[in-house]
Amino acid sequence: KPTVGVLALQGDVVDHRRMLEGAGAETRSVRRLSEIESLDGLVIPGGESTAMSHLLSVFELFEPLAELIKKGLPVYGSCAGMIMLASQVLDGRPDQRSFGAIPMTVRRNAFGRQVDSFESDIDFQGLEEGPYPGIFIRAPWVEQVGEGTEVLGVVRASRNGSARPVRSGDSVDASVDDTAPRPDEDRIVAVRSGSCLATSFHPEMTGDLRVHRYFLNLVRE
Ligand code: GLN
Repeated sequence: KPTVGVLALQGDVVDHRRMLEGAGAETRSVRRLSEIESLDGLVIPGGESTAMSHLLSVFELFEPLAELIKKGLPVYGSCAGMIMLASQVLDGRPDQRSFGAIPMTVRRNAFGRQVDSFESDIDFQGLEEGPYPGIFIRAPWVEQVGEGTEVLGVVRASRNGSARPVRSGDSVDASVDDTAPRPDEDRIVAVRSGSCLATSFHPEMTGDLRVHRYFLNLVRE
């Protein structure tokens, strides 16, 4: 079994550990330097990227983690974790740092202040058995991808484009209401670069293990 750490300075740690274990990994909360050794992968959870950035500096974890990621440690960031993996952050705090693991420009709180949270089914490239129920909470979007960054999922500009007609025999959880706002254009919410994965949404808040399994496949490769 691969051992996957979940960065536990702040944010949504327990649910990620439960999902990773459900998907077949051993897990460990990571708060100090000794805990990042001999990991096969790392998850950076949702939470607040400005606080996470600050705490990474306080706990002297930023540089060692940046080094490990540069050497190829597979990392998955959800929401605030996505922001932490970006090479460029828009609407961030001036002192906010990120790892630059995925060539992309991310905009914080991008869907607008009036839209605190919403749900939308995402056609996630590489996941079988239909769309993924995306849960978005003060979520970022990816405004631009750089070289080598593969787009795995988008929220469509038109609600008609994202609300999926429910077909009979559909295996997907049909209880997800599509409450997505209409962005001005299609907005990227899931990407991958090599063995680094990022989503704007929170798969750990669903019962659907597919995104965590997808990440574990990157870890095993
Ligand atoms: N808005 C938060 C940030 O900028 C992210 C929200 C979340 O992780 N749910 O870090």
